[in-house]
Amino acid sequence: MTAKIIDGKAFAEALRIRIANHVDRLKSQHGITPGLAVVIVGTDPASQVYVSSKAKQTAEVGMNSFKHELPADVLEAELLSLIAALNADPAVHGILVQMPVPKHIDPNKVIETIDPAKDVDCFTPANVGKVQIGLPGPVSCTPLGCLMLLRDELGSLEGKNAVIIGRSNLVGKPMMQLLLRDNCTVTVAHSRTQNLPEVVRAADIVIAAVGRPQMIKGDWIKPGAVVIDVGINRVDAPERGEGKTRLVGDVDFAAAAENAAAITPVPGGVGPMTIACLLANTITTASLINGLVPPS
Ligand code: NDP
Repeated sequence: MTAKIIDGKAFAEALRIRIANHVDRLKSQHGITPGLAVVIVGTDPASQVYVSSKAKQTAEVGMNSFKHELPADVLEAELLSLIAALNADPAVHGILVQMPVPKHIDPNKVIETIDPAKDVDCFTPANVGKVQIGLPGPVSCTPLGCLMLLRDELGSLEGKNAVIIGRSNLVGKPMMQLLLRDNCTVTVAHSRTQNLPEVVRAADIVIAAVGRPQMIKGDWIKPGAVVIDVGINRVDAPERGEGKTRLVGDVDFAAAAENAAAITPVPGGVGPMTIACLLANTITTASLINGLVPPS
């Protein structure tokens, strides 16, 4: 079998068009322009790229984009007071502080300071709890993107055996909640899991979120499984020239594609979905803040 390649880039583009339509409706029917504030501390080049791309896509769907750049040595208290000001600003419906923050700033304090009503990353305990008990609110962006791709591929996920490799607060744990909500039977594997290949071989759905290049081998994949590769790993690519690198996922893509029914590539799979889901969450928070039912 040669797997279908799931085109996350195209899916994310289509999602952004739907989001732009929601933005138009919020503006024309309710006089609300959703606003997303992005805060970046320091000059880490990867973070700068993410933040610019978030700001650009926010503006492209018709939302207000507010970018706050703080120096790497900013006092924690100054960052927290900026967040408090954004909490109080009625033009801001979503607040994102780009992680990681410099070592002298406590990320937990940053997260605790963000008003859960504007927590579009779904990092605050209040929103993590809402996802767990199924209340409306923002949902962790990367897992939400994975869920959308899976539903698009499979329709109903009910009764499927899903194995998630990785149990981080960012990806693995919220992914578990979302798949449970969709009536999958969920196994969460991690670094202490025994006999991982056998665990993965039982899966109809494999979500790889480990951060280890091509760790999940092709012969671990059950024939006909759907594979979602969250991993983003930069590896040397001498075939492209001296000192060159390329991105690979956590799955050995070529070998896994021989067994899987469908698989996401890296890049071009889950990655593009994450920012689109951030925008979707901003529609959700802008709707809820204004007493409206968010689009499903
Ligand atoms: P973390 O490092 O926080 O978590 C990694 C998880 O993998 C941990 O639960 C760890 O287990 C588990 N793990 C590590 N080694 C093994 C092993 N040998 N066998 C089984 N499990 C193992 O990573 P994140 O969840 O933040 O990210 C995972 C990957 O996804 C990274 O490559 C990251 O870059 C990427 N990513 C991509 C995004 C996107 O937009 N596409 C967004 C977010 C992340 P334990 O808990 O026991 O230590």
